[in-house]
Amino acid sequence: MSSHSLSLHSYNEVEIKQFQKHLIDFYEETKRVLPWRKKGCDLPAKDAPLNEWETPIQRLYEVLVSEIMLQQTRVETVKRYYNKWMETLPTLQACAEADYNTQVMPLWSGMGFYTRCKRLHQACQYLAGLKPKEIPLSAEKWSKDIPGVGPYTAGAVLSIAWKQPTGIVDGNVIRVLSRALAIHSDCSKGKANTLIWELANALVDPERPGDFNQALMELGAITCTPQSPQCSTCPVSDICKGYQEQIVISDKKKLKYDIEDGPCSICSTDPPSAETLQNWVVNRYPIRPQKTKQREERALVAIFQKTDPETKEKLFLIRKRPTVGLLAGLWDFPTMEYGEDAWPKDIEAEFKRCLNLWLQKENLCVKKHQSRGRYLHIFSHIRKTSHVFYAIVTPETKTKEDFFWISQSDLDHVGMCELGLKNYRGALDLKKRKLTSLSNFKAPTLIPAKQQNVKAEA
Ligand code: SF4
Ligand SMILES: [Zn+2]
Repeated sequence: MSSHSLSLHSYNEVEIKQFQKHLIDFYEETKRVLPWRKKGCDLPAKDAPLNEWETPIQRLYEVLVSEIMLQQTRVETVKRYYNKWMETLPTLQACAEADYNTQVMPLWSGMGFYTRCKRLHQACQYLAGLKPKEIPLSAEKWSKDIPGVGPYTAGAVLSIAWKQPTGIVDGNVIRVLSRALAIHSDCSKGKANTLIWELANALVDPERPGDFNQALMELGAITCTPQSPQCSTCPVSDICKGYQEQIVISDKKKLKYDIEDGPCSICSTDPPSAETLQNWVVNRYPIRPQKTKQREERALVAIFQKTDPETKEKLFLIRKRPTVGLLAGLWDFPTMEYGEDAWPKDIEAEFKRCLNLWLQKENLCVKKHQSRGRYLHIFSHIRKTSHVFYAIVTPETKTKEDFFWISQSDLDHVGMCELGLKNYRGALDLKKRKLTSLSNFKAPTLIPAKQQNVKAEA
């Protein structure tokens, strides 16, 4: 049990104003020019004519697209994808009406995490079905009603696009607030996470909520970094309780805490004590979440290549992954999954068994094949090793399942999973290709393997 009170983790009104001002000044100084960064909108009156809603809806759409793209993807990469997306699907309505497989997903291809793309499309469809004044103004209602939108995205969109005074919490915000308010706990879950959300909502600047939220995230990304926080140049250092503790400790003084309103039940330990005095540094905040153990999974992957007799183009055989489970619904090369089971004893014999399952008259189709080694792909919860075979097959190759042939250049646009692309690059010994072809974007061509079989038989 800790011996400090819960009030350690809050600011008084003067400190809140200071915190807001410091962050807004910091944002003005450091903000980058990005295509989706524009002013937030004041909302029209409820009974305003529809045309007055055009700009607010457009802003909402732009921020929604950028925010979902920015989750787990670097800003520089997002810039390219965002611009292409907006050229192709310039409005909420255009996005809502576009076909997911042929128009929406190809625009995301290469960025990974395709569930985000699906969620974005679903959210646009939902929002486009509402009258503007029916769109909820609370992050809580957004995360309840709008498919695939969580509290973070809801808060970001509402505060940035529509100036709603709502806080947001992501990894950067957790780090800054846990240090600024000396919360020594794993703030990604439980009571500590609830406290962080309460603080984010209480601290947000009601005049400029979008700028405040972006400043808070930027501070975490640039200044209050996980391992080397730049406290001496940080705009909130004068009211950062974690940093103040560090200063007191480095002066060899003892920390004193108010315990008037009872002991805090959120921190898992006390702030620094005499024993920890020597080596207490601010980056002990927050306590890092315990990593869940990754499980080892194995799979055999076959990359079948044939040459189109007319165009001489190289074509590769792909199919969609199952609609549930890892990388659900994405395109991949033919794969035999073993889950956590051991590798088959004779991998060559196993490849031949798989040929039987995937191809008809496999003995006649495969001109040559080769084992191209094993490739590891790491997901947050799985370490996936693929044993990849590369096989050249005859143009008339017939398949047994719903496969499609696709050209090498279209692999970038079809919505292949990153796991598949990694196996493909490894097996063909290609360096990671840049997605330069994004600028020449065209819808990919998928040739149904079955349809081709009919032609071959005719
Ligand atoms: S003073 Fe240091 S620990 Fe506190 S918010 Fe700034 S960078 Fe982070
Ligand atoms: Zn505490």
